[in-house]
Amino acid sequence: MSDGNFLEEINKRRTFAIISHPDAGKTTVTEKVLLFGRALQTAGTVKGKKSGQHAKSDWMEMEKERGISVTTSVMQFPYQEHLVNLLDTPGHEDFSEDTYRTLTAVDSCLMVIDAAKGVEDRTIKLMEVTRLRDTPIITLMNKLDRDTRDPIDLLDEVESVLKIKCAPITWPIGMGKEFKGVYHLLRDETILYQTGQGHTIQESRVIKGLDNPELDDAIGLYADELREMLELVQGASHEFELEAFLKGELSPVFFGTALGNFGIDHMLDGLVEWAPTPLGRQTDQDTFVNASDNKFSGFVFKIQANMDPKHRDRIAFCRVVSGKYQKGMKMHHSRIGKDVRISDALTFLAGDRALLEEAYAGDIIGLHNHGSMRIGDTFTSGDKYIFTGIPNFAPELFKRIRLKDPLKQKQLLKGLIQLAEEGAVQVFRPLVNNDLIVGAVGVLQFDVVVARLKAEYNVDAIYEHVNVSTARWVYGDDKKVDEFKRKSEMNLAYDGGDNLTYIAPTMVNLSLAQERHPDIKFAATREQ
Ligand code: GDP
Repeated sequence: MSDGNFLEEINKRRTFAIISHPDAGKTTVTEKVLLFGRALQTAGTVKGKKSGQHAKSDWMEMEKERGISVTTSVMQFPYQEHLVNLLDTPGHEDFSEDTYRTLTAVDSCLMVIDAAKGVEDRTIKLMEVTRLRDTPIITLMNKLDRDTRDPIDLLDEVESVLKIKCAPITWPIGMGKEFKGVYHLLRDETILYQTGQGHTIQESRVIKGLDNPELDDAIGLYADELREMLELVQGASHEFELEAFLKGELSPVFFGTALGNFGIDHMLDGLVEWAPTPLGRQTDQDTFVNASDNKFSGFVFKIQANMDPKHRDRIAFCRVVSGKYQKGMKMHHSRIGKDVRISDALTFLAGDRALLEEAYAGDIIGLHNHGSMRIGDTFTSGDKYIFTGIPNFAPELFKRIRLKDPLKQKQLLKGLIQLAEEGAVQVFRPLVNNDLIVGAVGVLQFDVVVARLKAEYNVDAIYEHVNVSTARWVYGDDKKVDEFKRKSEMNLAYDGGDNLTYIAPTMVNLSLAQERHPDIKFAATREQ
């Protein structure tokens, strides 16, 4: 294959995720996006209608929800001359580490806002995460077929709360029952909305030019109102600037209704035109690997077990950073220093899994994991570096986990370590006893662990209180760490990956330990 073709393959890719508050319309947007990608014949098959709120500990419901969101956890589809990868961010009640790590694997984000509600708290939290890497953000104001808030107020709110400049690309005409369509500021055309076309790709009527009398015929009094409004909008808002967008400082804003399948294509047009081509990543050797580097590399950002009842296996999701994956190729597993041959990487076509022949930088491939892969693992073409920036967070909640049947200790440990590898929870084994302590960032994860231990490992486990309130990974030179280990044995444990961890009964206790051992580093995040 010629170099030209290789670069063309990479440059046509766009890898993004949707961030939003629950119920803002992420699933509906996803459906319509896939409809445009022709990955779905008719939209509406991504997720079944939610059957009410699921009980928090109801595993079957969670599984159902998971099963469905899982088929959509990575979706690749063509749009115009481009190839788009859409990564699903988990929709858990708690903000989970998984969500964070998924955002490390994309190059841009679509922020979906319910235009009746404005900026909601989950969106604020997710935006904070995207700020860490200055990820470019495209905004979609959704649900214009309902009575929404004033569009100018919405932009003001995004600017003041999320600290990002807004550049409207489209502007809505009317709202709710009176929603007429949008005016596209860059194309100088009005695209008219028709109701009842949500399941198809609409042949929209387009009226060129703002002064076109056809516009007055089509939308009556709204035409003059629009003309006046636009003067105001253009005076008060920012113009689109590609550079500011790519730095994460300015967001192009679109208006539409996902349910009515209107405006999604405008947003997609913007995405493929402006969003970055696959970006490279930093390594622990202080080097930067570019996507166009023709040697293969990638990192694991998520591990998921038993994704599909038909394939009870574990899949490591690997973002290809550079080069090209080819079926049967050899990869170097940097952390363990071994070469592995990968013949069965998977791609995730909406709803179905297919064996993959080749993949390029920007793509996500699924690797069968038989226990040797962890989150943060780097695969290269022989180089020894590891990609940085894929952290574990120190858990904030702890419980001791105990078996109802003590003979199943081995099964329990195996299950816990595998669940920890997925990154949902962390497991700690104290140096001084045989306890197993589960640590989590969100409270829901404790229930998930018990339910999955039962379903997947046939282990009945229960929780007990444990006197741990915080954990820190411990680093330092070997001698100091050995000395620290002797002195603080009572408060030390190994995590699922055998990393030494200080588990402190109280925050005061942690501060004291930090004072007494200035040569030891106590880290609240750990990069693999
Ligand atoms: P998610 O929780 O963000 O994935 O949101 P969903 O896509 O499941 O949408 C939540 C609810 O809002 C569902 O009942 C959708 O049918 C509805 N919804 C989504 N988009 C629109 C829209 O554009 N207009 C209206 N009226 N409802 C919408």
